[in-house]
Amino acid sequence: ARVTYDDLKFVADLGHGSCGTVTKRTYMGLVMAVKTMPRNDNVVEMNRVLMDIDVIRRSLDCSDIVRCFGYFITPTDVSVCMECMATCLDRLLHHTNYKPFPETIIGKMMISTVNALHYLKSRHSIMHRDVKPSNILLDWNGAVKLCDFGIAGQLIESRAHSKNAGCPLYMGPERLDPAVSTSYDIRSDVWSVGMTMMELATGRYPYDGKSEFEMISAIIFGAPPRLDPENHSSDFCDVVDLCLQKDPTMRPRYPELLMHPFINLNSTLQTDVEEWFTECMVDVGKDFFFCHTLSLYC
Ligand code: ADP
Ligand code: MG
Repeated sequence: ARVTYDDLKFVADLGHGSCGTVTKRTYMGLVMAVKTMPRNDNVVEMNRVLMDIDVIRRSLDCSDIVRCFGYFITPTDVSVCMECMATCLDRLLHHTNYKPFPETIIGKMMISTVNALHYLKSRHSIMHRDVKPSNILLDWNGAVKLCDFGIAGQLIESRAHSKNAGCPLYMGPERLDPAVSTSYDIRSDVWSVGMTMMELATGRYPYDGKSEFEMISAIIFGAPPRLDPENHSSDFCDVVDLCLQKDPTMRPRYPELLMHPFINLNSTLQTDVEEWFTECMVDVGKDFFFCHTLSLYC
């Protein structure tokens, strides 16, 4: 018989996002994360859901992108069944009392993220448009994977599309400034990678400001944030500086980024992300433990 949505057994809530909820469910012993979004007449939102399914299903051959098992479309909802990951980097960084990540760990996270973006670009001519810590997931084996392709887009459409889509706090200045925002390209994602890596390294969002408005003004009009060279290696500071250039045409393209000394060094290192993550979980307070780890054993 055909599997229906009702055959999936609910285990736990994993999170709520901008366009739906993510729950952990099982089907015949297979554990998965199911992202469910209500169907509605909003064409923009439905396109977002369909784009997410489309990209994720086309990317089964990339180990740096979250796996898709299938999807259900019912009269009321659309659900995407994905591999279940342990947590997202945002939660690990901010919703626990864990400290900023070591550079060797960030190195592995950056390699996976850039590989995933390079894959999307070179194989499917797609940019992600919403790279941020909450869209990078970590599994219990230490694998790091990119997710959430709802507003990803074909490069050719990138000019027309999604001026307002995505989280503005991680967008490159060229996407935020009304004076220039028609000309952004694939390298806007490179800015978001720089912001994300900087946040992982410092433990906080790179811009100060009392409100989102203040921070966005700072992104558009201020100097880009920089890592403190006292606290970080020069290769790491350099790669972040390269990504966080206000002029998008100055930012490295993916092949160039993948050859940067910081990436090179970290690809040769045998960093055990799984061991580090396990230690984090031991350090982390009970809150996180209860809401996440318990749901692991279903
Ligand atoms: P957002 O990215 O806006 O936070 P999402 O709907 O993409 O919203 O996801 C909500 C939360 O669900 C994420 O922050 C993440 O912690 C969790 N999540 C998403 N996908 C998975 C997955 N495949 N495995 C485990 N947790 C997930
Ligand atoms: Mg997300």
